[in-house]
Amino acid sequence: MSGITESAGGGGDAGGLVDPFGRHVSYLRVSVTDRCDFRCVYCMSEDMTFLPKKDLLTLEELDRLCSAFVAKGVRKLRITGGEPLVRKNILWLMKALGRHLETGALDELTLTTNGSQLMKHAADLAACGVRRINVSLDTLDPDRFKAVTRWGDLATVMDGIAAAEKAGLAVKINAVALKGVNEDEIEDLIRFAHGRGADLTLIETMPMGDIDGDRTEQYLPLSIVRARLMDRFTLEDSPYRTGGPARYVTVKETGGRLGFITPLTHNFCESCNRVRLTCTGTLYMCLGQDDAADLRVPLRSSADDRVLMAAIDAAIARKPKGHDFVIDRRSRKPAVARHMSLTGG
Ligand code: SAM
Ligand code: SF4
Repeated sequence: MSGITESAGGGGDAGGLVDPFGRHVSYLRVSVTDRCDFRCVYCMSEDMTFLPKKDLLTLEELDRLCSAFVAKGVRKLRITGGEPLVRKNILWLMKALGRHLETGALDELTLTTNGSQLMKHAADLAACGVRRINVSLDTLDPDRFKAVTRWGDLATVMDGIAAAEKAGLAVKINAVALKGVNEDEIEDLIRFAHGRGADLTLIETMPMGDIDGDRTEQYLPLSIVRARLMDRFTLEDSPYRTGGPARYVTVKETGGRLGFITPLTHNFCESCNRVRLTCTGTLYMCLGQDDAADLRVPLRSSADDRVLMAAIDAAIARKPKGHDFVIDRRSRKPAVARHMSLTGG
């Protein structure tokens, strides 16, 4: 593996990336692999076909691409997947990207993970400048955890969360609300997360990619969850925003923050500040649309970043106004054919 170079840009882009609707794109999410050591029922089918390894950008290429976005004014990078911590040598990329924190070009380098590899990597992630991570955890019951993730082990993830906290990382828990699976556990998840000083964010299932089951069976509107929680807790609207789809409340009884990501029941597009890059260099300007821009060809066509920068500008100029997710009982087809693991949520 080569050394870490100051590739892509330097200088910065004073105007930043602004789309046709005046939204500043300051947040890049990067899926570094489509592979995973779990097979969550809402995310993947059990026998997934993954991309051939040769189609993946190298870590050096991912560094160069991310650095181009940073030079263009992106202030926050989230590394995701598939499971980002199963990508070989991922720590090299984290360390490389950490240099933008040191120069002040980047405000935050963060990660979304299923937690399975955190015991091994938490301390190194902290050393790379990571301060906060999101860990996906849908249930606190070992058998249910196995049923939801198919291949996961709850105890390993719990140890991973503990290791992250020990390394000084702030942990946020993400849970997908699933009808008939964890809907009776939301209160326990709140108490678990808030009891250790972590935020909890609940996510509605999104119709992305074919899975083995029927999505309409899994879909649990968060409006219902919220109404039920209001019988047990006092939920106070919070002004806290991340520029993303989550809307937050403070739970008076626990003092903790609870987020709701409701793409199907609430339109969050007007404040969207993000774009998503896949591990093959495809840029999706919207999670809920199929339009995408290929950045691999411009990346590989020239060692000079100008071609790449122009391709990024052209892509941002195509960022759509919003998505139109529908979970449709009649068509039973996902609204978006690609799996969430390709773009990382
Ligand atoms: N493997 C890592 C993890 O699970 O955190 C990162 C990638 S995963 C695709 C990112 C997030 O997307 C997870 O919180 C997961 O629960 C969520 N997710 C996956 N498929 C989803 C779907 N169809 N609808 C809603 N959320 C989904
Ligand atoms: Fe893997 Fe994350 Fe998808 Fe679960 S949600 S299968 S952990 S990528």
